[in-house]
Amino acid sequence: MSFLKDLNVSPPETKCSDKKCPFHGNVRIRGSVLEGVVVSDRMRNTVIVMREYLQYVQKYKRYMRKRSRIPSHNPPCIAARTGDRVIIGESRPLSKTVHFVVLGKVK
Ligand SMILES: [Zn+2]
Repeated sequence: MSFLKDLNVSPPETKCSDKKCPFHGNVRIRGSVLEGVVVSDRMRNTVIVMREYLQYVQKYKRYMRKRSRIPSHNPPCIAARTGDRVIIGESRPLSKTVHFVVLGKVK
């Protein structure tokens, strides 16, 4: 896969028949690629990825710590679990709230 070349992930070893899998389905990655930690894997084929980042606040000339939680599709061939550090890529909307796909665990 072309988008994997400069990413810190390896393609999955097992195959899956998930249509929303970026490797074996028909989901293309476009837009942003982010890194985060899985904080919830309680849904079927979906995980919550949390990202922490700093945002500059001009008024106080300091950085504010922010976090965001991004629901991401978790194909069975990758099967990310809570605590895993993962790379996610933006895709077309896969459901009402999901428009990111887990591309793999960080090596
Ligand atoms: Zn797959």
